[in-house]
Amino acid sequence: MAMLVQIILRVVFLAIFAIVPAQPLLAQSAVALQPLGSVDSATVSIARQGIEGKFDLDVVVLNPVVLPSSAYYRPRRRYRAEKLLDFLDGQGDINYKKIVGLTVADVSTTKGDIPDWGIFGLAGIGGRSCVVSTYRLGKGKVKRKLFYERLVKVVNHELGHTLGIDHCPVPGCLMEDAAGTIRTVDREDGSFCAGCRDKLKGLLR
Ligand SMILES: [Zn+2]
Ligand SMILES: [Zn+2]
Repeated sequence: MAMLVQIILRVVFLAIFAIVPAQPLLAQSAVALQPLGSVDSATVSIARQGIEGKFDLDVVVLNPVVLPSSAYYRPRRRYRAEKLLDFLDGQGDINYKKIVGLTVADVSTTKGDIPDWGIFGLAGIGGRSCVVSTYRLGKGKVKRKLFYERLVKVVNHELGHTLGIDHCPVPGCLMEDAAGTIRTVDREDGSFCAGCRDKLKGLLR
């Protein structure tokens, strides 16, 4: 009798297993947060909570690693963000579908005619990695609450890019192009517009 129950349970289990897609869009523990250099624990923890508060994804915080010298841009004494993405692509277990690099160092990239333009963060659309810098978020200059709000918005914006979302023309949407000004970030309320929410369906809380 016990044997029969076991067999039935096994069949039920297999049946359940069979209807679960083999590869869900993103598994749990899909996001790794990688501190690049020394980042204070409060900042790391706010970034993690910020992602988990917005996305239905678990975040694992990796041990900090030194900023790679390959990304250092000596003329401006800062780090090239696209080179940090190359570095981050190779970090962490392959089970982490997305890697969010977090640094206090200034980061830059080429923007149009400007060869080296300081930015809040960078991501490839649908890429594995993104990087966020707190350098331009006003730490110590603005109230801590505002600094953390900016941090969470930029982190979720960059993560949104890695999840395939491009810039959005809807004013106030989290995916709006900040275009280098913190005012754009500050006017966002931290939410995705209906169109972006639709594209991220299944990944949001
Ligand atoms: Zn963007
Ligand atoms: Zn939008």
